[in-house]
Amino acid sequence: VITGVQVSEGPFMNPVFNFAAVPAVLPLTVLQNMQEELLDFKGTGTSVMEMSHRGAVYTEVITRTRETFRRLLNIPDNYQVLFMQGGAIGQNAIIPLNLLGGARKTVDTVIAGAWSVKTQKEAARYADTAPIIANSDDGEGRFTYYPEFDTWQRSTESAYINICTNETIHGVEWYPSADVSAAVEASGSTLVADMSSHILSRPIDVSQYGVIYGGAQKNIGPAGVTFVIVRNDLLDQQHALCPSAFNWRLVADNDSMYNTPPTLSIYIAGLVFEWLEAQGGTAAMATINDAKAALLYDAIDNSSLYRNDVQKPYRSCMNVPFFLNDESLNAKFLEQSANAGLAALKGHKMVGGMRASIYNAMPIEGVRALVAFMQEFERVNY
Ligand code: PMP
Repeated sequence: VITGVQVSEGPFMNPVFNFAAVPAVLPLTVLQNMQEELLDFKGTGTSVMEMSHRGAVYTEVITRTRETFRRLLNIPDNYQVLFMQGGAIGQNAIIPLNLLGGARKTVDTVIAGAWSVKTQKEAARYADTAPIIANSDDGEGRFTYYPEFDTWQRSTESAYINICTNETIHGVEWYPSADVSAAVEASGSTLVADMSSHILSRPIDVSQYGVIYGGAQKNIGPAGVTFVIVRNDLLDQQHALCPSAFNWRLVADNDSMYNTPPTLSIYIAGLVFEWLEAQGGTAAMATINDAKAALLYDAIDNSSLYRNDVQKPYRSCMNVPFFLNDESLNAKFLEQSANAGLAALKGHKMVGGMRASIYNAMPIEGVRALVAFMQEFERVNY
């Protein structure tokens, strides 16, 4: 159960619930911790962002951050955790540069929304062939489900298969079963998963994936750090042109300090990880995230004004896009919700409508406030 005050204070000292997709809400206690330590980090007389990343004080920060992340996701010993820069979009290129140096030069991609589209396009620049092996685009850019494994037209010899397990813009979420991962591994390929927008929202079995990656700026911390969880056997297949700073082997062997890491972002990620552990970890998050998502989707499904088009088994627990059946009310909805302290509900420009992102740091009170607002708005206007 989430405890403590987690409502960020808005400019007028009214509580504001921030539904932004990215960069997103951080736990208030984390922001307060940062503030307390900002000018004098652990008695050093300097801030954490002014000290050597190789000194003893910072080494402890990055080590603790890595270890807490490992504990939260129960990451097996044969996986490395890398903290890098360049975001998930950077990894779209960094991944092929690290994985296509071997005999296999084909990259398969499953498409279920805008982010996997981007990933496939970037892979195609480096791979000999980069087929789309399944695609849930309805032909007009709408995605309402994740293509199930039995529809994937897998290449006989792919180096890896790109999946994005939570499509932030389209609100489609899906996890492969152990059977899917076993079948992919048996064919000599491996799953490479973009989990940018739902990492740590519930327990996962890391051993089902070759690589898991994402930007930090949703469930982990501020923008600036990218996490990569990679199995050891995938560390030595670099393309000859892979930049050194992005070479997973070099980054791993240098404890994510081959070049200067984004020290401030990593420190804040560490605070978020500790906050998460204090809440009960990913199992506790799953319970609360399911409750939050159920509240919001039920409210949408039981209304005549609001609509979410994603099929139920694939609805994201983190990003909830929804539409008003009377679109002429959109502007009024956004203005009045903002005035009610419900910030950043405007949908992504690709899909329009509204989107509520309800990441780990969004307390259930925020979702209750949103639902109450939506119901009252419908009663008065529709
Ligand atoms: N993948 C997903 C699923 C995302 O949500 C985003 C950003 N919203 C990206 C990739 C791109 O991440 P970045 O901006 O860190 O490169």
